[in-house]
Amino acid sequence: MLAAGVAGIAFPVTASAAAPAFPKGAVIRGVLKDYAPDDIGGGATLFHEHLSLARDFLMRFGRYTADTNAAAGLPPPAAAPDDLSFMQDPDLLAAELTAARREGVGCIVDGGHPDMGRNINFLRQLSMKAGLPIVAGGGFYTQPFYPKDLGTMSEDQIVRALIRQVETEPVGVFGEIGSWDYMTADERKVFRAIGRAHLATNLSIFTHTGIPGKAALEQLDILEDVGVKPERVVIGHLGNLVDPTVQVHKAICKRGAYVGFDRLGGPADEPQVPMVMALMNAGFADRVMLSSDLSRPNAIKRNGGPGYAKTLTVFLPKLKAAGATDDVIRQMTVDNPRQFLAFVPKTRRPA
Ligand SMILES: [Zn+2]
Repeated sequence: MLAAGVAGIAFPVTASAAAPAFPKGAVIRGVLKDYAPDDIGGGATLFHEHLSLARDFLMRFGRYTADTNAAAGLPPPAAAPDDLSFMQDPDLLAAELTAARREGVGCIVDGGHPDMGRNINFLRQLSMKAGLPIVAGGGFYTQPFYPKDLGTMSEDQIVRALIRQVETEPVGVFGEIGSWDYMTADERKVFRAIGRAHLATNLSIFTHTGIPGKAALEQLDILEDVGVKPERVVIGHLGNLVDPTVQVHKAICKRGAYVGFDRLGGPADEPQVPMVMALMNAGFADRVMLSSDLSRPNAIKRNGGPGYAKTLTVFLPKLKAAGATDDVIRQMTVDNPRQFLAFVPKTRRPA
């Protein structure tokens, strides 16, 4: 429920006060080129979306979800459109992105990587055709999607494989890095390796948690334990953890990491609006990140959906109606993601 009186509250001065400051030499690494963080300030940056996935990715995702649910005695997930052939069509997607750009999107982060079937050349094509900066993710996804030999690889070998990804493709962030359900031993190994690859490359990290926000604190524990500073991390999918008192969300903010509300722009928005407002009112507007994790074919405009800008066009009006000011909205959609993505490279940008 929405706390009464929220609309009348004056926000603590966190938002408009300071324009973000970036370290000297910091860049946002796009698939076509490195951008100065200020080049990306003209629009919102969506920090977790999907533009390139294997055609059968959602079919596998649905099958593994059904298996996990069955093991827990839960019903299978509701059927949803899962044919990803639209992610093989550069002209169609470029038109979708051009529309999103007109709706206020200034940059999109693709949360896929090789084990999800993400194709970097496809992202390059889209960025060029749509005139929109795109940041590619890197890493390994979750236990059911790991490459066959990952279980036998040592942590050191996984670190080297991650650095190799960054040295061979213009990866701009590690993400989405996930635990599928309760964290497995392999997933803990990957999280430690991701933390160490972050230290070697300086790329930030965003995560995927299983519903409802399972292992959120454990993910941050592991990353911090290997030396990652929390402000370089977004713990993702925490809109799924519906709790009006936002206990876990606040704990993550207090430690300095970002909380990802990253499946926005649809019927699941309603319980998330008061959670975002609660974090704002607790002074954590600078720790909240918004995105939509778009991957379903029925979400694109061509198929009658709201399109890639749905975080802005569908969710933000609800947040404004609940009392969020323009300054706070700018902070969450423009400044926080730039601050998160900007990094001083430690490795040379691959050709
Ligand atoms: Zn995702």
